[in-house]
Amino acid sequence: MKEVDFLKAAFREYYFKMSDRVEVPEHIEEREFGYQNFEGVMIRHLSFRDGGDLRAFLLREVPAGVYCSPARYTDPTLPMEEKGWKEADLIFDIDADELECKCWNEYRYWICESCSAIHKGAKLDECPTCGSGRLRPVNFVCDECIKKGLGEVSKLLEILKEDFGVKEGDVKVYFSGNVGFHIHVKDERFKGLGPAERAEICDYLMGRGLMPEVLGFGRGMPLASRWRDRVLDSSSLAELKRMYRKMGYEGFRSWLERVALEAGARIDPSVTIDVHRIFRLPGTLHRKSGMAKVGVRGLEFDPFRDAMPFGSEPVRLFVERSPRLDFRGEAFGPFEREEVELPKGLAVYLVAKGVARPL
Ligand SMILES: [Zn+2]
Ligand SMILES: [Zn+2]
Repeated sequence: MKEVDFLKAAFREYYFKMSDRVEVPEHIEEREFGYQNFEGVMIRHLSFRDGGDLRAFLLREVPAGVYCSPARYTDPTLPMEEKGWKEADLIFDIDADELECKCWNEYRYWICESCSAIHKGAKLDECPTCGSGRLRPVNFVCDECIKKGLGEVSKLLEILKEDFGVKEGDVKVYFSGNVGFHIHVKDERFKGLGPAERAEICDYLMGRGLMPEVLGFGRGMPLASRWRDRVLDSSSLAELKRMYRKMGYEGFRSWLERVALEAGARIDPSVTIDVHRIFRLPGTLHRKSGMAKVGVRGLEFDPFRDAMPFGSEPVRLFVERSPRLDFRGEAFGPFEREEVELPKGLAVYLVAKGVARPL
């Protein structure tokens, strides 16, 4: 398992030299930690006394993934029912990989776990080479995917600010380390909320259940909602009235649904609702990319520049298949079954993606 050794050595180097990049959460002793090792085993219900304790653990264990609870507990090491849940930050997950992108044909691969063949493009049920059903997806992201993800982030931030009055200083946006973004909201008003209330917030942010009544149409009570202005941003009230007369109540309602899908934030509600979930700890590395979960400032982000901690010393690799990738201003690839010398950052990335092996 040369690939695993190579990745583990890189992760060890990172935690040895750059452990100051790991974010130590406030009230660390009340957080539940978990980690995944390079054999794929997940271990949960851990806790650390302080940052030094956490860093010593990272160096000793060299985990493939490190997770921490946005929740605070009386005793985070006990079984879930006995931990004594106190509160949890509100967290949103936006998966850039879910937003349809023109790169899907170029940047999506399926690796056959039986014969190692790599197939490009749309999802397959079985391997065209050997017929096996064990196909593992490999997801690269392109600039466009990142841009789309950040577009969803900015919609979310806008609704949180305008409709919920969340202050900018209470929100932190992170690149998840692979293909998505995590938005951490530290606003005190949300901390004590349970799953049902968090589900309602998600519905609102996504514009779910937006009814014609919001514009004063139909028979129900018009709900006071900033969504009215959001719909009116797209068309005038007179125009909407004409549409309503033409489409009827149901037709107009489905039209509103599509508006909401566009104007709302495409978050994954199941992530926000689960108040016991653990999330990748900022500053730690992602097993499937070799990149770190890092803060995003503004809406300009280049994963290889901003999240890949490894540099440009040359590494020799055999690449099974890779699309063209831009690494810090230089283009590499596409490669297909060839030996190449690549900057370490890109080498770690391709090995983590499972499409290359070090020589
Ligand atoms: Zn196969
Ligand atoms: Zn893309």
